[in-house]
Amino acid sequence: MSTFSAPKGTYDLLPPDSAIVLAVREALAAPARRAGYGYVETPGFEHTELFSRGVGESTDIVTKEMYTLTTRGGTHLALRPEGTASVLRAVLQANLHRAGNLPAKLWYSGTYYRYERPQAGRYRHFSQVGAEAVGAEDPALDAELIILAADAFASLGLTGVRLLLNTLGDRECRPAYRAALQDFLRGLDLDADTRARVEINPLRVLDDKRESVRRQLAEAPRLRDHLCQACKAYHEQVRELLTAEGVAFTDDDRLVRGLDYYTRTTFEFVHDGLGSQSAVGGGGRYDGLSELIGGPPLPSVGWALGVDRTVLALRAEGVEPPVPATVEVFAVPLGSEARRVLFGLVTALRRAGVATDLAYGERGVKSAMRSANRSGARFAVVAGERDLAEGVAQLKDLESGEQSPVPLASLVEEVRGRLAPPV
Ligand code: AMP
Repeated sequence: MSTFSAPKGTYDLLPPDSAIVLAVREALAAPARRAGYGYVETPGFEHTELFSRGVGESTDIVTKEMYTLTTRGGTHLALRPEGTASVLRAVLQANLHRAGNLPAKLWYSGTYYRYERPQAGRYRHFSQVGAEAVGAEDPALDAELIILAADAFASLGLTGVRLLLNTLGDRECRPAYRAALQDFLRGLDLDADTRARVEINPLRVLDDKRESVRRQLAEAPRLRDHLCQACKAYHEQVRELLTAEGVAFTDDDRLVRGLDYYTRTTFEFVHDGLGSQSAVGGGGRYDGLSELIGGPPLPSVGWALGVDRTVLALRAEGVEPPVPATVEVFAVPLGSEARRVLFGLVTALRRAGVATDLAYGERGVKSAMRSANRSGARFAVVAGERDLAEGVAQLKDLESGEQSPVPLASLVEEVRGRLAPPV
């Protein structure tokens, strides 16, 4: 080991596990890409105020979890703790919302930073795939995004992902509910922090996971009894669309999520094999966020799916996502002349689109063949002086063990032919 290790709450990704993470990122994004979402990339840090205004002054993310820094020039920056505020900032900055082609549908994939207490499934540096549909209010859009996420998890072979669904009302009906909830919460036995939260964002108290708090919440007023007609109708349409497409969900009126900007639809995907950090993804509608960060009214909806936890969920279910072999051919040269010839052959195979590696270093045939077997390649190409004299190399099928000489001049074509799936 060197003097250094990765900072607390972070981990490195190395082969072979890193291939699974790439496959998961790809699979989580694929359904959104097929639905017209275009790729967006924003900086890893933003002005701190974007998050304090956008995510919410009362959230754990802003009060406790942001990595902030002040530049030499005195600018306050924060490593991004989530993706939505940045994406909306980028849309507003580029005036995409004025281009008239709304909703702007965008997907992203990146790493995020939260100073949390690390535990299994909770890291200080983690990875999300996200999708946002900015600038349209349509229950079909909420349903579309939920279905895309459900399909993404299913495409990986996961069967244990459950969908929780709720609505948080809007600026018409939420204020009266908020007041009723505050009245109720003020009468409970709560610690100072939670009492402060009651005054700033009482809905988030419903999200408290502690048993002592949960017990007291049994009789809390329910938002569904306060929803306005428009919110009820909107939510009913989302539910109907999901049902029509065979996406199962559980209504959960305690699901408020940790961010301040949500309105109407909120949802979370949970997996029961993950212990306390069970959320593998979540999102919702955030009709008020644009105005919070200085933009025009821009109703929007989106989600972020956790890559790290999706990998853990796969492990918990014993599912191995299909990961392409890193190489298909592994070349084993015996002697210096063979090294020169096979180096050329390896380059030609790669240029012909065949993933190929070579045994480097002056190595014995045994050790080189061990590398060939470990590489996961389908074929080994072995050549020594006698082969070269005959203008051939031995092509060995590493699955069946069969081996035959193939002329060097036709080796690329032969390998390509044998790798091609039978028609
Ligand atoms: P959130 O923005 O908190 O709703 O996060 C969306 C998803 O990102 C969650 O459902 C998790 O799967 C994942 N996630 C959030 N925070 C962490 C973390 N600290 N470590 C690992 N994954 C996380």
